[in-house]
Amino acid sequence: MKIYLDNAATTPIDKEVLKVMVEVMDNYYGNPSSIHSHGREVRTLVEKARKSVATLLKTAPSNIFFTSGGTEADNTAIRSAVRDFELTHAITSKIEHHAVLHTLEMLENTGVIKLSYVNVDEKGNIDYAHLEELLTANERSLVSLMHANNELGTLTDIESVGEVCEKYNAIFHTDTVQTMGHYPHDLSTLKAHFVVCSAHKLHGPKGVGFLFVNPAVKIKPLLYGGAQERNMRGGTENVYGIVGLAKALELAYADMDLHKNHIQDLKNYMKEALQKAIPTIDFNGETDADKSLYTVLNVRFPKMDMADMLLFNLDINGISASGGSACSSGSNIGSHVLTAIGGNPGHPSIRFSFSKFNTKEEIDYTVEKVKEVFAKASLS
Ligand code: PLP
Repeated sequence: MKIYLDNAATTPIDKEVLKVMVEVMDNYYGNPSSIHSHGREVRTLVEKARKSVATLLKTAPSNIFFTSGGTEADNTAIRSAVRDFELTHAITSKIEHHAVLHTLEMLENTGVIKLSYVNVDEKGNIDYAHLEELLTANERSLVSLMHANNELGTLTDIESVGEVCEKYNAIFHTDTVQTMGHYPHDLSTLKAHFVVCSAHKLHGPKGVGFLFVNPAVKIKPLLYGGAQERNMRGGTENVYGIVGLAKALELAYADMDLHKNHIQDLKNYMKEALQKAIPTIDFNGETDADKSLYTVLNVRFPKMDMADMLLFNLDINGISASGGSACSSGSNIGSHVLTAIGGNPGHPSIRFSFSKFNTKEEIDYTVEKVKEVFAKASLS
């Protein structure tokens, strides 16, 4: 039996997404920048995809720029905003994804900005009062705070952060990679200047995403080249990726409540079953439905010598999960997120993350194996 519970790292592609991508790959090979009919029909596909994404997110197509994924979208937002608005101060948290943290650290290390970190508590909640203090004490800032933490699942109230950023005239970028297609986003009301998406987190293809740029701000490109993406990102478009992204988002929105309820049920079911099987376990991050991403459950085991054996033995039993963020390492060594919330390194942690394709039978099998593996590791 092979069970995939690492959906925060990436999700299996939806067969319907694959179908439209293969259709495009097979039949539409023109370059969208070419003015002949082969080019024009492909341009139409790209623009239809942009319109579909924009409509779902309640914004105009001209505010959506396709990228190679979440990392490029985060980089473009942060680096272009700092450069084009001449910002010298940024505020983030120590639990952001490396796509954000390493970009901001590079800007700090090269003397471009001063970087402040907003306090987070032991569950990964940001301290909103501290954010306001930092905004008061500094020049016009860039604020970069994620919607849902990819390791812990803890949600940030980005509506409130947007309000406070507006009050202090700050530029607000939010990494929405883990919530896009999982929660409805209304970009006509959200007070964010930059929002991002990565298609492979919502049953779309890898290597494609988008950056939303609020029309209230104008940035210059990060990648120079051709006139693609209205001069914002040079390079021939990843046409089948873009079409696949739009289809994935369309499918996600069509049945969002159904999938949400199913996945939230699986998460609650696993949480209760694990607590019953191993009463000494605990959880990293928030786990209540209103404070936590429903696709993520991060389990903290009691202190033990054989910590590394847990994930390894689950893998041997055909269960794929992750310790910390699989984006960076795929192992449970050195999670910067767990370190930042004061996690004790002696306690092994496993992040289980779910999708619409998981079942209760898979959870039963996984809990059984976790119990066995934990008993073995505790004895060694
Ligand atoms: N931001 C978050 C919160 C993520 O979880 C990820 C991927 O794991 C990324 C950014 C990077 O996205 P991509 O893999 O599309 O570059």
